[in-house]
Amino acid sequence: MKIYHLSAECYPVAKVGGLADVVGALPKYQNQAGLQAAVVMPFYDRKFTRENEFEVVFSAATLLGTRRLFFEILKEKTNKLGFELYLVKIPGLLDRENIYSYPDEREQFIAFQLAFLDWISYSGQTPDVIHCHDHHSGLVPFLLYHSKLYQRLVNTPTVFTIHNGQYHGAFGWDNLSYLPEIDLTKTGLLDWAGGINPLAAAVKCCWKYTTVSPTYLHELTVNSNGLEYLFWAESAKGYGIINGIDTDVWNPQTDPMIATKFTAKQIAKGKQANKNVICERFALDAAKPLFVFIGRLVVEKGADLLPEAIERSITENEGQANFLILGSGDKEMETALLELKEKYPEQCNVFIGYDEALAHLIYAGADFLLMPSRVEPCGLNQLYSLRYGTMPLVRSTGGLIDSVIDFGDEGGYGIRFNNASVDDIGHAIVRANTLYQNTTQLQQLRKRMMALDFSWDRSAKEYIDLYESLNPTRY
Ligand code: ADP
Repeated sequence: MKIYHLSAECYPVAKVGGLADVVGALPKYQNQAGLQAAVVMPFYDRKFTRENEFEVVFSAATLLGTRRLFFEILKEKTNKLGFELYLVKIPGLLDRENIYSYPDEREQFIAFQLAFLDWISYSGQTPDVIHCHDHHSGLVPFLLYHSKLYQRLVNTPTVFTIHNGQYHGAFGWDNLSYLPEIDLTKTGLLDWAGGINPLAAAVKCCWKYTTVSPTYLHELTVNSNGLEYLFWAESAKGYGIINGIDTDVWNPQTDPMIATKFTAKQIAKGKQANKNVICERFALDAAKPLFVFIGRLVVEKGADLLPEAIERSITENEGQANFLILGSGDKEMETALLELKEKYPEQCNVFIGYDEALAHLIYAGADFLLMPSRVEPCGLNQLYSLRYGTMPLVRSTGGLIDSVIDFGDEGGYGIRFNNASVDDIGHAIVRANTLYQNTTQLQQLRKRMMALDFSWDRSAKEYIDLYESLNPTRY
């Protein structure tokens, strides 16, 4: 079965968040299970990609409205990632320093999708499934079925995975001319709330859609930034499949990015050795419990609640715990956290920015991971932290419900709380601090965490079953 995954991100080539981790791992596990899964993503710039590792396999020009865009498809030569990786290079449009946030982002990603479709269409390929990820590739299911240009591919099954239903990539009807030779009687499929909505169009046109956890599938019908009714109406073709983690990359026994590698047997020593390195670097006290947050500093992640929750914990618990934040995002939140660091330098430190290696070290050395998310489609941080024996403190939402059991419940290993509020975070921190004093129980729980299996094997199989269900007579 030949599968093309289409995505704006793919680890390790270009990553902003969990989308990259999933697209950089799922195809590898699908290939190990006997599929031929490949990834297609934009070529950004040389910061992300060394061009000598790629060869040009196709070149042509596509039309974006009246604009003629020359493009190349580059293929990574060695398949070293465990799958074929293709980059769509559109000089002057996609080859930029950053991945997102340009004023012409809509043109960038529409052109990316057109170039992909032109390539597979004109090179005579017939993939078994085209698997699109998030709104950046959401127009592909519509174009495949309703543009005359791609009629040869009209029977190709499409699967669409929603990694984050809050972002739709919507734009105005004045841009309709970007979509070539479409059936104008079908434009209602593009519409949501008076504009062209790629996420909505994908959900309407794809054969099946998936969310990155079962709970998130239901949550989209009550919280999806205006698409609730759509998700309710289309729910018969929706599936929730929880993300896995790439256990080759996230493995405390082999991870080259951490200071001291460790197994479950050596957990106490191993974690303390990593914690010592972190505390040395960030001037914190390695004898105190270390609470961390890693992620985008946005309301969705509950990052706005951190300054007050941390300050309260420091003042009410007499500096019993230490805090370290790694992230970037909202400028006000960044400022509030930096002010907190100024005010309590012995209890709190903040690293504003993105640092993959530091994230690994922190998962390895921290005691507790804070995730007060308001929305969490799956969440990978809690899965990584469990793998490194770091207890996640999570708000009960989305994939956090599906992956974290409170240690007060049978078989549990984490801390759950109901509200994204300063009070609930504070209460969870108090519970964690108390647990930290009980070394025997904490070590037992850490071993339980490390024994959990969140590898991709099971979830990759669920995707394969889904692909097979699309056209049972063919496979
Ligand atoms: P998102 O909603 O951002 O995709 P996920 O939990 O699904 O959230 O994935 C977040 C991924 O990004 C994890 O691999 C996490 O370690 C990583 N990450 C987030 N922020 C940072 C940062 N500032 N530095 C390093 N890694 C980060």
